[in-house]
Amino acid sequence: MAERPSPPEVDRAAASRRAVAARQARASLKRDLTTRVVHPLDVLRRAATEDAASPAASMRVTEFLTALPAIGEGKRDRILDELGISPVKRLGGLGVRQRVALEEWLAGRFPLPAPRAGRSALLVLAGPTAVGKGTVAAVIRREYPEILLSVSATTRPPRPGEVEGEHYYFVDDDAFDRLIADDALLEQATVHNRYRYGTPRQPIEEALAAGRTVLLEIDLQGARQVRAAEPSASLVFLLPPSWDELVERLVGRGTEGAEERARRLRTARVELAAQNEFDYRVVNDDVETAAREVVALAARH
Ligand code: 5GP
Repeated sequence: MAERPSPPEVDRAAASRRAVAARQARASLKRDLTTRVVHPLDVLRRAATEDAASPAASMRVTEFLTALPAIGEGKRDRILDELGISPVKRLGGLGVRQRVALEEWLAGRFPLPAPRAGRSALLVLAGPTAVGKGTVAAVIRREYPEILLSVSATTRPPRPGEVEGEHYYFVDDDAFDRLIADDALLEQATVHNRYRYGTPRQPIEEALAAGRTVLLEIDLQGARQVRAAEPSASLVFLLPPSWDELVERLVGRGTEGAEERARRLRTARVELAAQNEFDYRVVNDDVETAAREVVALAARH
């Protein structure tokens, strides 16, 4: 009797490489879910449209649920039971009724911000450290001169190439105190426990009165203050393309000690959790595209 031919060595090696790559891609997507870099509804939608071997479609529904913030195994099993979904199912293999039930459950549990009516032309761009909001803002400054990019005051010394009045107003602590005392700042915060930064109020008020769009590129504390002071402002949260990419940007060079590395990652998780407070989310995969998306949000007003 002839032996069953086994696949040639090269095919087996290639297949096992593909299997490893698929597992890594799934693990990476799970990290994105845990850290809220992607919304669970996005993953479910991808699973319905992509190839069965894609990271979203091939993810087990059990893995998917436990990757979500604050869902443990007990809760996961209760949810699956309630929705009538077998724990062996993969996201790409859900029936229509099961997918709709899961979608409804996710929409209730992780609501997406609904764009609110009556927004002003004041746009705030914030996001986690190292997501690249400065770069996106620089592209907007260069390519969309009709938008006023607010120039902040800061107590940080200028870096090489930075121009007074263009990148920042560089002031000392006393001058910054005076700006606060004169109520000349719309918001102000100490960033990274180091230097103080604040947004001058007057240029913004003048530009808004003249019908221009104004963009502030500030940190999360500042964004919250703007929301409180000007509830009609639109808050845009810039997201990294993936959690792994953000980690790479935060600690990529590996020059920090383990403690500093852990501190930065903890901070990034906390910062990502703030996205629920924002009106819009833009993914900074490609800087030019992200800039265009932010500007398109401005054009809605
Ligand atoms: P850098 O020193 O690298 O230019 O900026 C450091 C951080 O300060 C960035 O996250 C930037 O968004 C933030 N920042 C810049 N200007 C302001 C501001 O006027 N207010 C607040 N709250 N943060 C600012």
